[in-house]
Amino acid sequence: MQRHPFVIYADFEALIEKQTERVGASTDGIHAHHPMSYGYFVKAAADVPVALMEKYDIPQTPVVYRGSESRDEVAKHFVASVIALATRLGDLLKATNVLISMSVEEVRMHNARSVCDMCKLAFTETRWKVTDHCHLSGRLRHTLYAPCNLKLATPKFVPSFLHNLSKYDAHVYPYDFTDYWAKLEQLTLPAIEDFYSTLTEEHIKDTEYQFAKDVSVMYAIRADRLGGLGTRFQNRHFYTTHIIITNWTNITYLLIITNYN
Ligand SMILES: [Zn+2]
Repeated sequence: MQRHPFVIYADFEALIEKQTERVGASTDGIHAHHPMSYGYFVKAAADVPVALMEKYDIPQTPVVYRGSESRDEVAKHFVASVIALATRLGDLLKATNVLISMSVEEVRMHNARSVCDMCKLAFTETRWKVTDHCHLSGRLRHTLYAPCNLKLATPKFVPSFLHNLSKYDAHVYPYDFTDYWAKLEQLTLPAIEDFYSTLTEEHIKDTEYQFAKDVSVMYAIRADRLGGLGTRFQNRHFYTTHIIITNWTNITYLLIITNYN
C-alpha cells in the first residue's frame, strides 16, 4: 500500500581471470571472477523534491566506480558507498516532515470518503478519519482511520536490488576478453572472436557485434577506453532492472535490504 520513496539498483561487472586449478575430484576451475566495476542508481519517487535530494547528497544520476590494478577492492568500496548512501537516505527520511498541503479538489475528495482506504471499514463517530500525507512532499496520500494511519510508519530500510549473475545476463560484453586490468585501457573495440563466451560456449551474432560497435561509437569508446563500455551496459541495466522490478514480471533478482538504523 505504501511504496518506499527510494530504491537502489546496483550491478557489478567482473574481470574474468583465466586459471587452471583442480577444485574437486572431477572439477577444474577455469576462471577466477574479480569485481572490476560497480554501478548503482537511486530511483526516487516522482514526488520527492529535487532540493531534498540535493540537500542530502543523494545522487540523481547513475554512480559508477571502476577499479584498477592499484584499487582492486571494488566490492569493499561498493559496500562502504552503499552504507553511506543508506545512512543519508535514513537521515533524510527521519528529518523531513513537510506539512500537508491539499488542493480544493483533494479536500473535497477527503471529505467525501466514507470508508478507510486501508481496512475498508466505514467511518463513524468513534472511527474517525484522518489524512495520511507524504512527509517528503506534503502531498495527500490516503484518507484513513487513525489507527490504520499509525501502521504506516516511516520505513527503516531502503530496498536494494542487485542484478543476478546467471550467465552474466548474456549481454554483449567481452567478459572472457577482459581478463586483466590493463585490458580496460584498450582504445578499440575487441574483434568479434574476442566476444566468445566460455560460459555459454557461444560466439556472438553479427547483429550483436554491430550493436556493440554502435554503442562504442555512440559513446566514443576511443576517448573512454574499453572500461567505459562496461559502464554503458551497467547504466542500461539500471533502467531495465527498474522496469522489470516495478512491473514484477520476472523476479529473478536478489533483494537485499540495507538497514540504516
Ligand atoms: Zn482503516
